[in-house]
Amino acid sequence: MPSAEFCVVCGRTGQALTDGVCAECAAARESLVALPEQVEVVLCPQCGARWVRGHWERAGSSLVLSSDDLAPFLRVHPEVGVRELRWEERSRRASLREIAGEARIRFRSLERTVPLTVRARVLARTCTDCGRRAGHYYTAVLQLRGEASPRTRRPKELRGRLDAVWNELWTEARPDWRNAVAWREELREGWDVFFSDTLAARSVARLARQRFGVGIVESASLFGRKDGQDVYRVTFCLRFPPAVLDGVRGDAERAPTQALER
Ligand SMILES: [Zn+2]
Ligand SMILES: [Zn+2]
Repeated sequence: MPSAEFCVVCGRTGQALTDGVCAECAAARESLVALPEQVEVVLCPQCGARWVRGHWERAGSSLVLSSDDLAPFLRVHPEVGVRELRWEERSRRASLREIAGEARIRFRSLERTVPLTVRARVLARTCTDCGRRAGHYYTAVLQLRGEASPRTRRPKELRGRLDAVWNELWTEARPDWRNAVAWREELREGWDVFFSDTLAARSVARLARQRFGVGIVESASLFGRKDGQDVYRVTFCLRFPPAVLDGVRGDAERAPTQALER
């Protein structure tokens, strides 16, 4: 029942009050729905799959960004229900896109339309399927592993924690290093990250040594000749010490794309 008391902000009576404030005044004071200034979306340029929460999904999607790409970045007030999201790419450069849209929301008794804008940085990475299908080109592999022995963790937990340290490395890696990541494969004992550029792979390996004190074992194998020169593929095996893996949350819900939000 509407209260005979008045809103402490606008002074109106006859409004439903929460903590003495009417819905309209509360809506004006709170952030109902917001986006970070810039988000990062990783997509496969071949098939349109998106890298979300640590795996590829939605193969066959359009390369144009849609509300499915941006919804995960929305910060929604706990009392807000989002009815509809609409987006339009305003300018479309390959890697950085300006996007404007609006959210139709309900907050207590109010319906509102909130305009939203965001810059989306688009990183193109070949997905696992397309990489395999194409016998995709790579020159280096970063193997993310736990201790050789004893194996105390269950494989799934180990992979989750390795994924978390990889996400930390990812946020600190230079953009050109990240762009050199062709695809990533999940294995029982960890992850293999395939690079199209060996220097970038080595730089990430060194970053891991600096940040986490990992040991690096480097090996090379001849895989062919190009322009009269032997071509090698280089493998960097990174073994993360138990103390490092203990210190991260092995939360598969955290994707590299969302790490920028924090
Ligand atoms: Zn009021
Ligand atoms: Zn693909």
